[in-house]
Amino acid sequence: MFAAELAGHQAIRQRLLDRLQTGRIRGTLLFAGPEGIGKRRVALELARRELCFRRNACGQCEGCRMVMGDDLPFELPNLLRIVPEGKAGVIRIDQIREGLDSDHQPRFSRGVIEWASLAPPVGCHRWILVEEAHRLNEASGNILLKTLEEPPADTHFILVTHRPEALLQTIRSRCERIPFAPLGPEEAWAVASRNGWAEADRPRWTALGEGTLRYLDEAAFRRAEAQVEAWLDLLGGRPFSEAGGALLPEKDSPLAQGEQLRQPLELLLRLLADLARIRTGEAPALEPWREVLESLAAQGRDLRPPQEAALDSLRHLPRNLSPEPLLREVGLALQ
Ligand SMILES: [Zn+2]
Repeated sequence: MFAAELAGHQAIRQRLLDRLQTGRIRGTLLFAGPEGIGKRRVALELARRELCFRRNACGQCEGCRMVMGDDLPFELPNLLRIVPEGKAGVIRIDQIREGLDSDHQPRFSRGVIEWASLAPPVGCHRWILVEEAHRLNEASGNILLKTLEEPPADTHFILVTHRPEALLQTIRSRCERIPFAPLGPEEAWAVASRNGWAEADRPRWTALGEGTLRYLDEAAFRRAEAQVEAWLDLLGGRPFSEAGGALLPEKDSPLAQGEQLRQPLELLLRLLADLARIRTGEAPALEPWREVLESLAAQGRDLRPPQEAALDSLRHLPRNLSPEPLLREVGLALQ
């Protein structure tokens, strides 16, 4: 993790604040938008206002600092954070019902439903933050839904996700959706340079990140960079056994293996989209790789088979498949 400050989203933050002060925030909000743009930070800012000694989320006082470090608490007097747990990375039903962690030990002082039913002090709010809400499964989603149907006054659920389509339809229809747009390239780079990124990396960091902060962590960025190079090599005809290594899941990652395939497959789709753009005379979005993309585009290969293979793999990313055969198959579609 990194200690990025909250950047951008001025209009949304102002609107939420106005509504909070005039009592016009509905029970359940769904913060939807690309991964790594600060949706959770905006949610935490709401909870922070009431922890702040100055009551304005100043970011300087002891109260604010409780929710600003890398090590965010799971429970505070006015805030509960529900996050996916365990290797499978799901939000389980006993996390919601009894408030247990992945070792079945109490994570919270009580279950989420019970926690939500406690009335906050007059003039205060209680916030229940469901991070990566697409990781709710059917059982945990359904039990949460019951609470969403009758939210207590001044208690607010905020569901945060970059994959709203993966939520139960019944949950989505209970929520007011707040759509978040990516940060501007200047906004994103301003955060990066404050976090120590050097100007030399700027073009590739900006192109790969697409207005998100998901590559603020250097290892994550280098990995994405290596994956782009690997696909370009494969597109150029190198065999998977030589060039495919960077695409394979890492053994020590906290993410399930199947979930680790999402990024390389999405990068492949972006490269293929760029090849199509170049053929119609447009500039590639991944501008720093323009030269090699242009030479690949000139080869005139059919882009549909690899695109279909990548889309198909993304649709069927099961939790525990063995990823290598799947990637090889996508790699074969490139030959
Ligand atoms: Zn403060």
